[in-house]
Amino acid sequence: MSETDLQAVLWDMDGTLLESEQMWEIAVRELSLHLGGPMSDETREKTIGATSPHALAVVFDSLGLDKTPEALRDARNWMYARVGELFAEGLEWRPGAREALQLVRDRGLRSALVTNTERELGDVALDTMGRKYFDVSVCGDEIPAGKPDPAPYLRAAELLGVDPARCLAVEDSPTGAASAEAAGCTVLVVPSFVEVPRGPRRILRDSLVGLSGNDLHSLHALVTV
Ligand SMILES: [Mg+2]
Repeated sequence: MSETDLQAVLWDMDGTLLESEQMWEIAVRELSLHLGGPMSDETREKTIGATSPHALAVVFDSLGLDKTPEALRDARNWMYARVGELFAEGLEWRPGAREALQLVRDRGLRSALVTNTERELGDVALDTMGRKYFDVSVCGDEIPAGKPDPAPYLRAAELLGVDPARCLAVEDSPTGAASAEAAGCTVLVVPSFVEVPRGPRRILRDSLVGLSGNDLHSLHALVTV
């Protein structure tokens, strides 16, 4: 085994494995209405892949609201309750996601869920997807800074005992791709809602459908040679 061989795959959740970015879309737009007015597409785009505190700050700023701790806490709870309702109505896989998770397991690679979503909803999603697909999980409320900071991916690699340079991260947003790249991972970008800029450690693919074990290794090798 060479020093650059792939050892683990680190998965973003919303918009990458699950069609849950739509649920955040519904909840964050409803939250904006609840707090004072409709959300522009530009504001919405700034919340994609963001941490909850950052998304709330964007919403409050867009409406000119005071970001008091009480108001932010109430808004956070309102948003999480709404997304929780939507998760309960039925979570769906992104195309090819379940097969890609199984592929990683079949290949004997390690696997982690790395999400800006907080543990409260991360656990609901893990139960729905199946915990067997993941060795560890890192949620947005468990690290000092969320994506685009590298901290979530660094923590996942640390928990797995793997060098980030030997990890392939799978992401759908510019925020998530920046986080994984800053951590030193190779990033497989499968865009969902917004376009993701190209980068030296990024490989773009239209979907996870048809991904093979050879693809995983060759994608990683492409940017590590
Ligand atoms: Mg995402």
